[in-house]
Amino acid sequence: MKVCRTKKSLSALSAAWHRAGETVALVPTMGFLHEGHLSLVRLAKKKARRVVVSVFVNPTQFGPNEDFAQYPRDERRDFALLRAEGVDAVFAPTPEEMYGAEATVSLVESKLSKVMCGAFRPIHFAGVLTVVLKLFNASRADVAVFGRKDAQQLAVIRRMVRDLDVPVRIVGAPLVREKDGLALSSRNTYLSPAEHERALALHEALDEAEADYKAGRTDPRRSVAKIEKALAKACDRVDYVVAVDADTLEPVKKLGPNTLLALAAYVGKTRLIDNHVLR
Ligand code: AMP
Repeated sequence: MKVCRTKKSLSALSAAWHRAGETVALVPTMGFLHEGHLSLVRLAKKKARRVVVSVFVNPTQFGPNEDFAQYPRDERRDFALLRAEGVDAVFAPTPEEMYGAEATVSLVESKLSKVMCGAFRPIHFAGVLTVVLKLFNASRADVAVFGRKDAQQLAVIRRMVRDLDVPVRIVGAPLVREKDGLALSSRNTYLSPAEHERALALHEALDEAEADYKAGRTDPRRSVAKIEKALAKACDRVDYVVAVDADTLEPVKKLGPNTLLALAAYVGKTRLIDNHVLR
């Protein structure tokens, strides 16, 4: 497995692969890898001959009072996991390498990124889109894989690719959960055992909403209210619960296939997100 620390070395590697007629898939991550990330890697291997994983805790997507400094990092463990998966290259730049001095251009999406998490994290998606486009450019990837754990992020990135004619194919990967149902996240490491237990309410509420939907109840207001009630009991603060179209993120009038039920809530000081797309 090659370790690239500079954009230039990654671009050169990708160019050589392309010259040899090979395709390249990119899996962007912030590291502290878990089975969710590794499932993306396995999917990427099916989509292209070469797989690059980026490991970069992107400072520009964290707000001033968020957890950039505390965000868990363990490069050695991450690299060992990626090597074991047969990844071809890891891209792990410093923030200075990634951004250079005094970058003054960033990418703003004006609709999908303003709702849900965007309403609570105003600079988040501009940071995400900017870094993701830079990663696409440096890696020259043909395909990029993103998890449905971050359903809004996936929708916003798909929109960027569509609206800016970015020459990359976006692939969405299923959300991976722990055995007890908690959505895997690097941030789960912040949870105490008691908080972890309380956090199970997130997926339980979504499971119940799915069961209600399957039983024929399709009123989104009722479904959202029921989830809100369950979260109010278990969580310390609820940022939002929504029932929206998974692609446009617009509220739905009736629950149906492709309705995204999504939520964000705090358990202790940890902000967790979870979602479920009705099928
Ligand atoms: P992160 O390191 O949290 O920025 O996530 C990197 C990528 O992994 C994103 O595309 C996430 O959506 C994806 N991801 C994170 N957790 C999960 C999960 N539990 N299941 C599926 N994909 C995930």
